[in-house]
Amino acid sequence: MSDGQTFLLLLGVFYALECFCMAPTGSAVYVRTFGRHHGRRSCLLEFGGIRKELYFLYFLPWPGRAHVVGGVGGRMVPEARRLSSARRYLRVLNRAGEPLVMNGVLLALIFFVALPVTYWRDPMSERVMLMAGAGYVLLFWQTGCYWCVHRRFFPERGEERLKCVLTMAVLPWHGMKAVDHLVLHPKLRLGTFEAQALLLFPKVFGEVAKKEWRRACHGPGADQAGREALERFLDRVGVDRGGWERGPEELAEGDKYCPVCHGIYHAGATRCSDCGGVVLVEGVLRGLSTVEDETAQ
Ligand SMILES: [Zn+2]
Repeated sequence: MSDGQTFLLLLGVFYALECFCMAPTGSAVYVRTFGRHHGRRSCLLEFGGIRKELYFLYFLPWPGRAHVVGGVGGRMVPEARRLSSARRYLRVLNRAGEPLVMNGVLLALIFFVALPVTYWRDPMSERVMLMAGAGYVLLFWQTGCYWCVHRRFFPERGEERLKCVLTMAVLPWHGMKAVDHLVLHPKLRLGTFEAQALLLFPKVFGEVAKKEWRRACHGPGADQAGREALERFLDRVGVDRGGWERGPEELAEGDKYCPVCHGIYHAGATRCSDCGGVVLVEGVLRGLSTVEDETAQ
């Protein structure tokens, strides 16, 4: 293998590694490629010993954007006030990341397209060195941009900034994915619920919110204040709560169900084993309820 081929192979391997991320156990990773909304990524591997999970983010340097949300720690009671600050914060973060994304795309084009093509045409030509030089000039520019953005978000973390910048200045694959190094920073993580309301498709968030609401109403440790806070939050986000009190549809006669997870239990059980001993509710058959409706009329 020639020098050029070895360089390209290493570049490719390390770039591919940058497409994965490690997040603390219990995090949720949201990735957006095209379109406005994010999808939730499922974890590829769990490392129990170090309490981390491995996620694949996206391959190309554009237009992907990822957010790591939550992690170890309790569930937050959402607040409408926090939602607006989270929205503003995400907007600022995304705007600050734009130049990093643009430079990342240019870097990928130079190192993965222009440089190999020039090398393939004539490995000994001066153009190869010129192209590599241009790539490194852009990489230094990217490093400078990263320095400025990092200083804006973490003014007190100078040591970390220096370390990031020194590695980025010599390793092109870091430069191509610079925006991820910034946005996935543990200090920039949003509260779970606010982030989900902002990042997810409204329909997907509706499902998440429904479960959260049931937990706030019937789950262990449910209280009036938490439930009211959640209701205010859902009103603010515009989530319709119609029909959320209804039980699961596939109940047979005599079955009970858990009001939180909607797990169905047959005769004998009184508490849900998955939800910390929530008391089960007697199922109401849809057929029976229509009969009742008819007698009522
Ligand atoms: Zn349950």
